[in-house]
Amino acid sequence: KKGDSGAVDQSYHALMMFTKVDKSRSLQDKFRVAMLSMVKHGHFLEGEVLVLHFVSDQASQAVGERMLDEFLLDATFEYEVLFHDVVALTQKLFPIVEAMQKHFSAGSGAYYSDAIFFLSVAMHHIMPESLTRIVQLDLDLKYRTNIRDLFQEFDRFPPGAVIGIAREMQPVYRGQSEKFHCDPRQEEIYHGDRHTFWQYRKENPQTKVGSPPPDGLPGFNSGVMLLDLRAMRASVLYNQLLKPSNVAKLADQYRFRGHLGDQDFFTMIGMEHPELFYSLACRWNRQLCTWWRDHGYGDVFQLYYRCDGPVYIYHGNCNTPIPDD
Ligand code: UDP
Ligand code: MN
Repeated sequence: KKGDSGAVDQSYHALMMFTKVDKSRSLQDKFRVAMLSMVKHGHFLEGEVLVLHFVSDQASQAVGERMLDEFLLDATFEYEVLFHDVVALTQKLFPIVEAMQKHFSAGSGAYYSDAIFFLSVAMHHIMPESLTRIVQLDLDLKYRTNIRDLFQEFDRFPPGAVIGIAREMQPVYRGQSEKFHCDPRQEEIYHGDRHTFWQYRKENPQTKVGSPPPDGLPGFNSGVMLLDLRAMRASVLYNQLLKPSNVAKLADQYRFRGHLGDQDFFTMIGMEHPELFYSLACRWNRQLCTWWRDHGYGDVFQLYYRCDGPVYIYHGNCNTPIPDD
């Protein structure tokens, strides 16, 4: 890989959200599984460096530094660890994402602190220009292959694609009428009209929007994301879609209400502009949550949940246990 300077850029950047980890034994346990499996399978070439970025508060950073000392002991590769202050990033982010928060956040969506859930959306404006590619990863992952291989997926982006992301593996975006919903990220209860394309699908019964693969557009899951920051900066279309007036227009067109932050934004713009997204194979983000199977979607669940072939990364979303190897 050659950077702008002509020098070979041998850094691989990965970013994880890492807040309130000091207060959660469960998050600490997930982080242990993620890092130990990443280290176990991680192999890099001579001179290459894996740069691990954590978006964190002070208390979590202290816990994180201590845990990383232990988890990285057996690493066979060079690495760097960088902590980013969540408050400082939120400050930069808020003006860019404020307007979209009301469409894709819980409650009134006006909470300043919720802006951080949209970090990936505006990462190309937040990180320095010299950073051209980054992968964003959840903590509730288990790696079964070399994370270096994930970065090779950047080279498979077709022209015009700015983000690589796997599909959502539950009928989250199908729409629902039940009056309950479990959201482990926000721990709140929502009403049935809150998220998804339910109303749009009712008005457009033949639509692919929210329908299962391979022909439908089930939406995206944000647990593993490849952000081509250089392409995001260069894409006129992508940056137009970030503008409040265009977000409002699409949200209105699709009658979209969400509460999953960046994942909702990418899902919505992906319905209109699928060419912006490289579709990462499900094996790179094999989500395990089955919540919707038992909440009104048993009949269609498998159409969404099915993922053939070897699993490279398990995603134990909604606190689902990850199987042992
Ligand atoms: N996260 C965090 N602190 C929290 C909750 C979540 O840093 O208190 C981060 C963490 O990286 C986590 C990600 O946000 O993996 C998304 O949350 P989670 O994986 O629990 O959501 P799910 O995948 O179950 O929807
Ligand atoms: Mn997750």
